[in-house]
Amino acid sequence: MKSSIPSFCCRCSSGLRSTATRSRRYASTSAPPPSASPKSRWLGLAVVSAAAAGAGAYIRSQSPSSGTLNQETFTKYSLVSREPVSATSSLFTLRPRYHSDGNYEVYEDAWRIGVWSVMFKQPQLQIGRDYTPLPTTAATSLSVDEENEGYLRFFIRKDPFGEVSRYLHSLEVGADIEMRGPQIECVIPEETQEILFIAGGTGIAPALQAGYSLLNRTTKENRPRIHILWASRLKADCVGGESDTAKALVPSRSWFSGWLGSSQSSASNPPAVAAVSQSQNSSLVVRELEALKSQYPGQITVDYYLDEENRFIGKNDLSKFIKSTDPTEDPQKRKLILVSGPEGFISYMAGPKVWAQGQELQGPLQGMIKELDLKDWAVWKL
Ligand SMILES: Cc1cc2nc3c(=O)[nH]c(=O)nc-3n(C[C@H](O)[C@H](O)[C@H](O)COP(=O)(O)OP(=O)(O)OC[C@H]3O[C@@H](n4cnc5c(N)ncnc54)[C@H](O)[C@@H]3O)c2cc1C
Repeated sequence: MKSSIPSFCCRCSSGLRSTATRSRRYASTSAPPPSASPKSRWLGLAVVSAAAAGAGAYIRSQSPSSGTLNQETFTKYSLVSREPVSATSSLFTLRPRYHSDGNYEVYEDAWRIGVWSVMFKQPQLQIGRDYTPLPTTAATSLSVDEENEGYLRFFIRKDPFGEVSRYLHSLEVGADIEMRGPQIECVIPEETQEILFIAGGTGIAPALQAGYSLLNRTTKENRPRIHILWASRLKADCVGGESDTAKALVPSRSWFSGWLGSSQSSASNPPAVAAVSQSQNSSLVVRELEALKSQYPGQITVDYYLDEENRFIGKNDLSKFIKSTDPTEDPQKRKLILVSGPEGFISYMAGPKVWAQGQELQGPLQGMIKELDLKDWAVWKL
């Protein structure tokens, strides 16, 4: 999402983008894309209710002059650390510049709803970009104090030609970063029982959020599940990750071999990152995923795909999760496919999102996912 910011403090100017984005996230449910089926309706309803929940979080976060994250004004954070994950990505840790008791509640509201982001400001160019806070898992380096102080962490890829990501990677520790939010990107409805999350690159950040939000709802009676398929360009991003289910797949290459598009199974090509044993050398993101797995055993699987090793997500990789439907399962238990990553990745998997009347809409379902027999799965492009 590219946005220019005419000014930063008043509701009428900086609020413009927030409003546009809010409607952008929800608009496609009121005007379903041609591909939308009745099964999409439950997602639509949930989105509407999330708009209300988001509004609640929004109202609670209105505290313009404080250090509390809010959707109207930019709040100052300090860069605590920037740890490289790979040659092109880093883990950023930020804390609010000024103490505020309100942040914990603002974050918690957002975590409960589903996937959320904040907008970072590039002050010289007056532009903003969206980034996805990582959840706090058992593997996190955040202490309880840091959590209480409102620290946030981000996995950010440096685009060599990108304005904001380059700017962020050029900042020294201690520098100020201004952000506003939270912006609800996707609601995970309460009745969701299973998520298939297809992530490309830094699209893993919303996948971690979705996993965190969904699995936090675990009770004795309710054991939701999430399957994450993560395609990376560089091994360093996912080093140490071992695929849980990709080992038995049948290979099939497609035309889109340039960017995460075709499928080649580990049957012919052993799991790319499986060779690297789990250790402290694992990438920070892999450690986060592993922490979720050990916290919720049996409820999360992760499969890794690597451009560098010609291992791409293919139709077979998706269909085995779609097919694994238990016919005795309660039809009220909803299933959701989420797709997140670079534009080309989303387009290839599910078709492009489209712009209409100043809003970004979901667009018709196309791409690889359309070729699957989706049954009762709903699809949402992030
Ligand atoms: C909801 C959401 C959450 C996100 N979360 C994350 C996250 O957690 N981590 C993360 O790393 N990213 C995330 N992103 C992506 C992020 O917002 C930025 O898009 C990304 O960092 C690139 O921004 P940039 O300003 O660095 O690059 P830009 O300046 O926007 O440029 C991006 C690319 O487009 C090219 N480009 C720019 N203008 C033109 C033009 N006119 N013609 C041709 N090419 C052009 C540039 O050369 C560059 O390669 C998220 C995006 C969204 C929408």
